[in-house]
Amino acid sequence: MDVGPSVQDTLALVYRLQTIDSELAHITQELEASRDALRKKEESLEGLVSLMETEKIELLRLARDRRDREDELRTNEHIISENKKKNKELKHSREIQAFLAEMEFRRDEVERLQDEILRIMETQETLDKALKDREKEIAEKRDELETSRTTAREEAAARMDRVRNLEEEKVRLSDQFPDALFQQYSRLQKSHRNGLVVSRIQNGTCEVCRMTLPPRTLTEVKKRQKIVPCLHCQRWLFLEEIPTGG
Ligand SMILES: [Zn+2]
Repeated sequence: MDVGPSVQDTLALVYRLQTIDSELAHITQELEASRDALRKKEESLEGLVSLMETEKIELLRLARDRRDREDELRTNEHIISENKKKNKELKHSREIQAFLAEMEFRRDEVERLQDEILRIMETQETLDKALKDREKEIAEKRDELETSRTTAREEAAARMDRVRNLEEEKVRLSDQFPDALFQQYSRLQKSHRNGLVVSRIQNGTCEVCRMTLPPRTLTEVKKRQKIVPCLHCQRWLFLEEIPTGG
């Protein structure tokens, strides 16, 4: 493609354009990464809050269970004390046997219920402590999240400023070279890996594919009459340092 004698000057502009595009892509990635990190923190906090809700419900259930057993315990203790009063009135051995069986059953019940209440109280204590730790953890995470949000907002604002500046420079640059070239650049940018269209020549090698360029190619580039692509990766070769004077 012949773009006139200032082909390397134009390529320098295209190279700058490519650098801008790379930086824009990088900034977009940074913005996304920052949003992702913030979302992860929010999700982690939501997870903790829902865990805390579950623990609160479990504590309510335990309190209810304990109340029920305490009621049952009182009932049994009441029956035992009432039965003791009736004991003296019993005469027949069958009545006495039934009384003894009933008393044994009630005493077992009292023992069982006391054990259960104790177990529930222990569980309540453990869970209560876990809940207090959880509340503390949530408060800390909330503070952390608020700080992260502020930082992310500030960083995003700075990044958006940079994006605006780069976009403005991009418009100025693309105005400086032919439309056809700009269109070709845009097309190649989509088809080439990494979006790289232009490659700098460094010490006789192509910057993108790292292959040593044949002397003939270098001579062609130095003539500065047309765009010379790299034989290996097809990027437009650009010699950054243009000899001046001479
Ligand atoms: Zn190459």
